[in-house]
Amino acid sequence: MPDIHSSTKQHVRATNVSEVARKHDEYMREALVLAASAAEAGDVPVGCVVVRGNEVVGRGANEIQRSGDPTRHAEMVAIEEAVRTIGEKFLEECTLYVTLEPCAMCAGAIVLARIPTVVYGAADEKTGACRSVFEILDNPQLNHRATVRTGILEQECSAILSDFFTVQRKRETTDNVVKTQAEYGTSSVKPGGVLWLVPTPIGNLDDMTLRAVKTLREADVIVCEDTRHSSPMLKRYDVPKKPLLSYHEHNERDRAREIVERVASGQRVALISDAGMPGISDPGYRAVRACIEAGLTVTALPGASAMITAAAASGLPTDILTFVGFPPQKKGRTAFLERVLRQPGTIIMYESPYRIVDLMRDIEQITGPDRQAVVARELSKLHEEYVRGTVHYVIDVLASRASVKGECVVLIGGEIEVGES
Ligand code: ZN
Repeated sequence: MPDIHSSTKQHVRATNVSEVARKHDEYMREALVLAASAAEAGDVPVGCVVVRGNEVVGRGANEIQRSGDPTRHAEMVAIEEAVRTIGEKFLEECTLYVTLEPCAMCAGAIVLARIPTVVYGAADEKTGACRSVFEILDNPQLNHRATVRTGILEQECSAILSDFFTVQRKRETTDNVVKTQAEYGTSSVKPGGVLWLVPTPIGNLDDMTLRAVKTLREADVIVCEDTRHSSPMLKRYDVPKKPLLSYHEHNERDRAREIVERVASGQRVALISDAGMPGISDPGYRAVRACIEAGLTVTALPGASAMITAAAASGLPTDILTFVGFPPQKKGRTAFLERVLRQPGTIIMYESPYRIVDLMRDIEQITGPDRQAVVARELSKLHEEYVRGTVHYVIDVLASRASVKGECVVLIGGEIEVGES
């Protein structure tokens, strides 16, 4: 019965072919998961696995953005891991699966690692890498022959790339469109946008919260008072490189509008100050207000704040706390102090170390020598200090020093304290 015989043979062959196809799909799906993880981290979504037998011996996702190293392509990362896993320089029994056609550099790495089979999903013009992998096929100069298979899960592989680039292009376009705040009705606001107020340490770098770090890593853009001041700090917490915008009293109007535009276009904007809670005693207030008026989401993360920290350890009553920020330096200084020092409860203000003694003397003019006072400085740092006592005592201590260092938090007890002390 030759007919039956031949049909059985065909059936066996068909099974083997679909078995191979199934494996290709399976490994390519694994590469696609890695590609998605690269996109999440801000990298062009390319993923790669290196397989020996039925075992994945190396995994890689593009790490270009994260590492700041332009050679960290998914293939390089996966080959590196495979070499480590197998413990040999050459991957002569391995197949490399990658979602995007390898570029010339990665093709070179494939040759050097002597990988005999390359399977990829899509070719993408945007990467400029098209067709380079075929140079390793029949190049007599290379002591390497490889099989290249293309188009495995091609649609998925190219979709993950085009989605990524579409989102990026959309962002770039919205960034370039200048709209006035009035144009933002709820209809033109894209979902997902948020203004995060992220507190940073006031001295001790360990006071950064896990959530603050996570938020800064996730943000599309970080707005800070001084980029030179904030860049090293962001590096310290492994925040990947991303756009940094400076925000200070000279550009606050324009920046506030820009922040509104970015949040409205769906961006996640993190606002930080030089230290402590942003939006308190810095120009951040204007941006917060503008976002709220535009109907956008504003949220603050709890964290380090000099005034709350000082109030807690001051020993002064905390049932009523009035924070007044920095007192004016010249014009209206006396009137300001007279007004705030009449308030009930504990008054909190900030002052620079260069003016602290003068400020305490001005306060003494108004309160007399016996009002309870605390000057806290170098909070959370090695030389943290609380000078506690009467206004007069605090002046004596500080004026006796050659210099005072560190930003100061000044706390003045309410009038009722005079009678009690
Ligand atoms: Zn490459």
